Amino acid sequence: MSTNVDTLLEALPYIKDFHGRTVVIKYGGAAMREESLREAFATDVVLLKYVGLKPVVVHGGGPEITEHMERLGLEVRFHEGLRVSNEETVEVARMVLLGKLNTDIVQRLNRHGQPAVGLSGQDGSLFEVAPVANAEQVGFVGTIERVDVDVIHHIAADYIPVIASSAADREGHPYNVNADEAAGKVAAALGAYKAIFLTDVVGWLADPEDEGSLITRARVDEVEAKLGDVGGGMRPKLTACVDAINGGGQSAHIVDGRRPHSLLLELFTDAGIGTMVTS
Ligand code: ADP
Ligand code: MG
Repeated sequence: MSTNVDTLLEALPYIKDFHGRTVVIKYGGAAMREESLREAFATDVVLLKYVGLKPVVVHGGGPEITEHMERLGLEVRFHEGLRVSNEETVEVARMVLLGKLNTDIVQRLNRHGQPAVGLSGQDGSLFEVAPVANAEQVGFVGTIERVDVDVIHHIAADYIPVIASSAADREGHPYNVNADEAAGKVAAALGAYKAIFLTDVVGWLADPEDEGSLITRARVDEVEAKLGDVGGGMRPKLTACVDAINGGGQSAHIVDGRRPHSLLLELFTDAGIGTMVTS
């Protein structure tokens, strides 16, 4: 029994500290694909809302988009970590992100007891994107140039906002956007207290081949110094951590979403489980 009480007592100062604070959660990977992990995630996010935090969920959907493209016989290609996107690719991505994944997440949060509202980057002109620098190679992939969080403030007052990483440029042409980038920029624009990135590795690894080489803590300047050497999907994640901190966040965390309730463990226990980035 005493261990249960200890766990509760350990969480109390965190609950107090977090009351009324905004936390941005980038949702993806196994936590979004495995049924038991989806349930654990929804339980966690709803609990955050119950104890007085303002959770904001931002999600991608890479594997599902790939799956649907293959079903439709479309070619799937990546260039330097970015999905090579023609008009058809962007259309499928929007259909999967908004028509399927976003509504699934919203329904699940509703069912767990806290009403959620789904948004895309187009809703309330949340994101404005411009083509990425290497658009000649990757096509309609956008980088977020402007975030208008007014719509999030309205929704977060009462609901849990669930944001899909789809967006359009100033003329209304749709683009694919990396969900980590979207989460980092939303966190910065909201001045979120914390940003948490769920992924399928234990965190930022000094050696990507060695799960034992977890970097548990890093300052923004240390991350920036090493960013050039980081590849794959970890680079946009670390860039997003830097954005979140520079926007006024207290810390940004990369945690293992394959582990059930990793969100609660990272937020409410003394022993963090992934990589924590601070200023
Ligand atoms: P998601 O954005 O869905 O969490 P990504 O595949 O985009 O997943 O990004 C995470 C991936 O980045 C890891 O699974 C790993 O393969 C890759 N990666 C590259 N370099 C590193 C590193 N230094 N530490 C950890 N993961 C790395
Ligand atoms: Mg990614």
